[in-house]
Amino acid sequence: MDKLPLTLPDLEPGWVWLVGAGPGDPGLLTLLAHQGLHQADIVVYDALVDPRILDLARPDALREYAGKRGGKPSPTQPDISARLVRHARAGKRVLRLKGGDPFVFGRGGEEALALVASGVPFRVVPGITSSIGGLAYAGIPVTHRETNHVVTFVTGHGVTGEVPDGLDWTSLARGSPALVFYMAIKHLGTIAERLLAAGRRSEEPVAVISRATTEQQRVLESTLGSVAVDVANAGIEPPALVAVGEIVRLRAGLDWLGALAGRKLTADPLASKIHRDAV
Ligand code: SAH
Repeated sequence: MDKLPLTLPDLEPGWVWLVGAGPGDPGLLTLLAHQGLHQADIVVYDALVDPRILDLARPDALREYAGKRGGKPSPTQPDISARLVRHARAGKRVLRLKGGDPFVFGRGGEEALALVASGVPFRVVPGITSSIGGLAYAGIPVTHRETNHVVTFVTGHGVTGEVPDGLDWTSLARGSPALVFYMAIKHLGTIAERLLAAGRRSEEPVAVISRATTEQQRVLESTLGSVAVDVANAGIEPPALVAVGEIVRLRAGLDWLGALAGRKLTADPLASKIHRDAV
């Protein structure tokens, strides 16, 4: 990259940078993430980090995987935090690289608190979270004046691995015209049922976006009533996002990636009918 006409902070020895790698496309990295990748002695990365991003690290940097591999148990969160502390105390420049944004359903807060407890200096570098970046690459804005003044990000997976306890489905269904679920594929049937039971319409548009912003991106358009079956039939696998609401209709106008492949876009995607009473 050409020299930038600005000065960025350096990743200093003994420091940990907790960095969001964005949803996949390396072009969506922040300048700080890029700088950190150039300077790090050790990159501790998660399963969701795109290999092309890891390739931006210094050739001699140590790359440490901190996810599941080959059926072996994954390192526990305390293991990962302890590893970061150990490397920093050894005077290394440590980059902790996480998919999307480190503070969005990524346990970045837990890791940062462990650094605080150990007195290790750190910086947080936000990344583009997959819901926002992924929906944009599917041609779906997370907010649009005519469809929603609220968007809610929800995890479909709680600590126990089930749909999280304590989610107030009635409030979600009534209060948020647009919902975007992370980690929702496994429990998609249950999630759709709960939203329907709480009053959402079975014809409500839903988009499922897997491997968003990568070469393997797939987008399935469906409805709340059919999405679980459609996803199973299409063989869509995680990582994927599930967007629910009228925002999904905008894709007919805004699927800019599809347009690159010849899709004809309409300038009036909401013309058909818009359910302002959806919530
Ligand atoms: N911190 C991450 C989220 C981690 S939770 C972020 O800000 O995006 C993991 C979940 O993120 C996955 O189950 C999936 O729902 C979503 N996700 C991450 N990257 C994705 C991608 N490229 N495409 C689709 N979903 C993705």
